[in-house]
Amino acid sequence: MNSLLLTGGRVIDPARRLDTTADLLILDGKIAAIGADAAQQAPRDIEKFDAKGLVLCPGLIDLHVHLREPGQTAKETIATGTAAAARGGFTSVVCMPNTAPSIDNAGTVALIHERAKSQGVVNVFISGAITKGIAGEELAPIGSLKRAGVVAITDDGHCIQNNELMRRACEYAKMFDLTVMDHCQDYALVTTGVMHEGNWSTRLGLQGWPAAGEEMIVARNILLAELTGARIHCQHLSAAGSVELIRAAKKRGVPISGEACPHHYTLTDAAIAGSEKFWAEDGKSIFGFSAMKELPSWPSYDTSFKMNPPLRSARDREAILEGIVDGTIEVLCSDHAPHCDFEKEVEFDYAPFGITGLEVEFALALMQLYHTKRLSLADLIAKYTAAPAKLLNLAKGTLAVGADADITVFDPDREWIWQRSDTASKSQNNPFYGWPLKGKPVATLVGGKKVWVEQEAVAAV
Ligand SMILES: [Zn+2]
Repeated sequence: MNSLLLTGGRVIDPARRLDTTADLLILDGKIAAIGADAAQQAPRDIEKFDAKGLVLCPGLIDLHVHLREPGQTAKETIATGTAAAARGGFTSVVCMPNTAPSIDNAGTVALIHERAKSQGVVNVFISGAITKGIAGEELAPIGSLKRAGVVAITDDGHCIQNNELMRRACEYAKMFDLTVMDHCQDYALVTTGVMHEGNWSTRLGLQGWPAAGEEMIVARNILLAELTGARIHCQHLSAAGSVELIRAAKKRGVPISGEACPHHYTLTDAAIAGSEKFWAEDGKSIFGFSAMKELPSWPSYDTSFKMNPPLRSARDREAILEGIVDGTIEVLCSDHAPHCDFEKEVEFDYAPFGITGLEVEFALALMQLYHTKRLSLADLIAKYTAAPAKLLNLAKGTLAVGADADITVFDPDREWIWQRSDTASKSQNNPFYGWPLKGKPVATLVGGKKVWVEQEAVAAV
């Protein structure tokens, strides 16, 4: 079982600097051979998969996903969230701890492990909370969370404001060899801001969330990483100043890192003024703009464009792209944040922050980074495989012989449109439905098992 011969694909494994057209053999869920040996070693009756014209790479990892279970299963479940991951080409996700109850104790970690095993279709890694109840007041039992199997700690959705408490968290994290992931938001500066503070927030009459509200905490994290030696990873970077701070800190050798989400390197705050304003101004520099026959349209104050941190200016978007290209930002992810329609269908001020992303993020990354020739395919894949695996010490992210046969098969040039009816997530709060996209996962293999294949309506599990 779980044996397969993939023939004639372009095999890209950035961890081993491999980029070649070859056969790839999976035996019993592990990578058995790549290249000339593969077909020779294959049992005669093995199932074959014709990968000609397709790319095979290590299974994509998304280290920032809200699966909403336990407690918020109207938005998403482990079953639906991992099904969405499989459709998006992801073989591993790291779920965030802001569930109900939050993942601040070993029991909840065990519960999620169990549900993921019985209902998940991709690997689920778990991040634990830094503070009890993600309240930012008292440390969670970090050692016991580590023993229960968490791969990182974060209070994502919230941000510890007390710098001394954050320092202690970093010291514990270092002791237990855990990465601290941080949602960077200074509450005093941001207060009740709902969108980027700038020209558009003034014109739309919405309260601003200034870039400095993120940059302030990125700077704090750099200082604490330097002081404690703990690895701090800044989540969903949105502001030009954050990129500049991390770039300079990395040059000094500080153990700091960052990630970017597709909405922040594709859209800008002009989108909240409606599609006409967006396409007339910032939309022009999106890849494919000129090729789009019918430009996607949406009204002003559309809550699908409300996320935290918010969409920022065109200058910030460009800085995020530059940071990705020069390696300042080494990880790409979605911040997949499902919400029910009834929660989002309210005034902009009252809607919850966040959008889904697992099913569309790889296409957007290919469009904005590969098809624009900003990054090679191998460098782009690395940000979804080798880089997150290294950051969190996951035994994933490579196609080395003996490794788990977690493989993403995709067509980098396929043009497609994402329809609501195609989504496996329980929620549809995403602005990219109806957009012409380029680049598409066509099969997702976890431990050699096809957990999703295009053309098949139902996951083959
Ligand atoms: Zn967050």
